Amino acid sequence: MNTRKRLAAMLKAGTLPAKELANPACVVAPGQRCEHALVDPQLNRSLSVYEDKVRGRFAAIVDTLKALSAEQHELDFVTRAQRMARERLGYELPQSLLGEAWVSGLDLRALHSYCIFRSFKECIAQVDADQSSWRERMTLDSAFIRSCGYHTLDISPCADGRLQGLLPFVFRMTPDASILVKAYAGAMFDIEMDVADWTHRELERLTGGIPACEDGKYLKIAVYHYSTSNPCDQGCAAHGSNDSLATEKALARLNELRAAIENTFGRGAAPEILLVGIDTDVDAIRVHLPDGNGESSPHRYVESAELYRDTLGMTAQQARARIETAVAEGEATDGWGQGRGTLDPGMRKLILRLLEANLSQIEYVIQHHAGRYAVIGHNERFICAGEAMSELQLRNKFYFAHLDTVEEGAACMDVGIRIFTGLNVNHGLPVPILVHFHYTSRVPGARERTVSRCKRVKAAIEARYPQLHKQGLLHCQMAVSDHMGSERCQFIDEDAPVAGH
Ligand SMILES: [Zn+2]
Repeated sequence: MNTRKRLAAMLKAGTLPAKELANPACVVAPGQRCEHALVDPQLNRSLSVYEDKVRGRFAAIVDTLKALSAEQHELDFVTRAQRMARERLGYELPQSLLGEAWVSGLDLRALHSYCIFRSFKECIAQVDADQSSWRERMTLDSAFIRSCGYHTLDISPCADGRLQGLLPFVFRMTPDASILVKAYAGAMFDIEMDVADWTHRELERLTGGIPACEDGKYLKIAVYHYSTSNPCDQGCAAHGSNDSLATEKALARLNELRAAIENTFGRGAAPEILLVGIDTDVDAIRVHLPDGNGESSPHRYVESAELYRDTLGMTAQQARARIETAVAEGEATDGWGQGRGTLDPGMRKLILRLLEANLSQIEYVIQHHAGRYAVIGHNERFICAGEAMSELQLRNKFYFAHLDTVEEGAACMDVGIRIFTGLNVNHGLPVPILVHFHYTSRVPGARERTVSRCKRVKAAIEARYPQLHKQGLLHCQMAVSDHMGSERCQFIDEDAPVAGH
């Protein structure tokens, strides 16, 4: 009996356990569990510990602030407050935000934003300790990616916070210097910036800057998303929750990038492209299969949720064989999805591994999130504007707006502000915005120039949303990180020296 018939029969007989019903990929007979032969349970446990640790740093903030608020008129308030902050949050609060509480009352909005940024900084500081248990177990590391023939993976997911766990969770990929992640609203990445990144990496490769990869290729991946349980409301906000539009636009952008590079650098120069969709309810993926010419189609793909369902209960070997068959069948799609020729062997190897790795994430959501995320919509803590730090990789931690200037990134920022109006402003909380950029300490004056840039972007954000700014509902914190050295997410004060002074 095929899975759909089995599901229907079980539903009719009332034998489908409620928990399993939550995840469409987990269809089992009574008494069976969703435990797939190709899933790495140890890796899932490590990721779960990591997730709890990182979320814990943010979860304690509101309760701690409520407790502080209750004590703000006590005589030894500052001492008590600092002790409470150390014990519950792991850091102290700025003296300037506590000292005047007895006169003017605690500025809880300012404290809330400070704690969000400070907890984020703690995550960055603890990244090695936090991630050591899972980094080595990832199946898609840079050695594997190189073995598929790629020296660089340039990934542009949607800026939506639900896609922020993309690398370690959804793709089971180790964050690495050869993997660039640049998020944009609706996965609408910046072609010019991508051409610049491509040029930079190709130059590094040609000058021997990328080890053991003289003839590797550059792969651009665009990641759109959708929600199977609430397609009209919880899909991609940037595309009005219209799934086919999100798919077509992302593919069109990939093709434009290919054309841009071919037209500039000649035929054959274009990077390979891969289009991937994510069901953000359950983190299952849809991989569009490029044809022999590297062309993708919105209508030619394989879905990991279906593979999980169809191969549950098989041995690892049987399941792998079934996945290979499914990819081959996908390639043979006719009608609108028909392509010419078969997958490049390296691309096939990468896609097979991606699909297999994602089965672990499907099971992670089944076992650690009761089959489907409790919050299927937005639940981000802050907006990161500028350049993201690749260190923190977790669903719904922040909304990311990749931007050089606010004018260019306006669409991303507007979507972010809209999301946070619902999440924070409607509850009286400000929108915390971390304005962050990287600099290279090898370049003289780069840090000062980057600080100037942070200030420019901060001022532009405040000017773009004057109402929120006037009401004290925009809290921008500037920060810089060194590409080369140890300075990571260093907070910058308003009066920090800038370039030219
Ligand atoms: Zn989106």
